[in-house]
Amino acid sequence: MRIYKVGGAVRDRLLGKPVTDIDWVVVGATTEEMLAQGYRPVGADFPVFLHPKSGEEYALARTERKSGRGYGGFTFHASPEVTLEEDLIRRDLTINAMAEDDQQNLTDPYHGQRDLEARVLRHVSPAFAEDPLRVLRAARFAARYAGLGFTVAPETLELMRQLSESGELKALTAERSWKEISRALMEDQPRVFIEVLRECGALKVLMPEVDALFGVPQPAAHHPEIDTGVHTLSVLEQAAQHKQPLTVRWACLLHDLGKGLTPEEEWPRHIAHEHTGLKLIKAVNERFKAPKDCQELALLVGQYHTHGHRALELKPSTLLDLLQSFDVYRRPQRFEEFIAACEMDARGRKGLEQRSYPQADYLRGAATAARNVAVQPLLEKGFKGPELGEAIKRERLKALKAYKEAASA
Ligand code: ATP
Ligand code: MG
Repeated sequence: MRIYKVGGAVRDRLLGKPVTDIDWVVVGATTEEMLAQGYRPVGADFPVFLHPKSGEEYALARTERKSGRGYGGFTFHASPEVTLEEDLIRRDLTINAMAEDDQQNLTDPYHGQRDLEARVLRHVSPAFAEDPLRVLRAARFAARYAGLGFTVAPETLELMRQLSESGELKALTAERSWKEISRALMEDQPRVFIEVLRECGALKVLMPEVDALFGVPQPAAHHPEIDTGVHTLSVLEQAAQHKQPLTVRWACLLHDLGKGLTPEEEWPRHIAHEHTGLKLIKAVNERFKAPKDCQELALLVGQYHTHGHRALELKPSTLLDLLQSFDVYRRPQRFEEFIAACEMDARGRKGLEQRSYPQADYLRGAATAARNVAVQPLLEKGFKGPELGEAIKRERLKALKAYKEAASA
């Protein structure tokens, strides 16, 4: 049997990037030989094994053929006769379809190295179209390597366009899509992911609610960039530049969905978009089965981001309601993430990227003031049950009034 390093590890070494996980392909071996050498099988009928010591993935060279819709609709053929070249041709992009032996001799039948040098993301073969997930993967790699100057080859983009129009994207499972989306959002330039998806028509299929924001105007006085889609991309860009976590990036992407529903007669104003957007945010959340913390934050940011911007003008009672809605006493981190998303929203406006956002510290201070209200003295006064709850609220309100007065003094 012959063992080769494949995929990302080869690509990233040639790019001079750190290699985190290594995938291996094994040519000329049978399942029985792998088991005899102590490799542990990953699944029952999938020719992938884990190394007994390193735990890295070793896959038997295989060919794949599409047999139906969706990811279940694939038949694998792994046997000792399958060559390295046959295994590499089923891969998505040429830069991901190179292999290397233990002497660093490169096997590169589809010219991945040439495309690495030319900074091109190109599909390996027409079989690219057999797995629609590759549309998302190509867009994700575009986001990851945009900083190095990579772009998607025109013919690959064309293929992605055909795949998007065919309806095949709809057959993707939520789990597979979310894995790509979440990884793409965590790249350095997540806006490129959305831009590439939009360019090939996949955004309209995957997230029509986000796609609909392009071409929707906002008031120039607050939003010099005017276009809501452009604004959304800038907010996402700010979130990446400020190294925000996935929850915040997801919330940034979805915060203004309501603006896509505003009747044209009302443009460029978007009255109550915070509320109209909630059902759309919920729909996108559920479509991709986003993790609970992402779902929650996206909904809260959607509903309350304009409160964040008006923080300094909010009445103490409104401020208290806001803090209660976030359950800031038990979930301080989530409120911090809300503040971050609001700040990214404010910075994601043309020419205003560097403007300070005093609302952030003001909201933090308000949360601290409310949280510092001590419960013990109220217990000692004999409050209990719902009355205790009311008493705590009264004290918090008092604290917020004092806080607001001190802040404006
Ligand atoms: P990363 O740095 O994101 O891990 P990677 O290229 O290693 O990048 P993996 O998802 O780990 O990506 O996959 C390993 C390799 O398997 C890829 O380089 C590619 O050759 C191939 N591959 C993975 N998923 C697909 C797919 N859906 N279609 C075709 N080839 C794929
Ligand atoms: Mg990998």
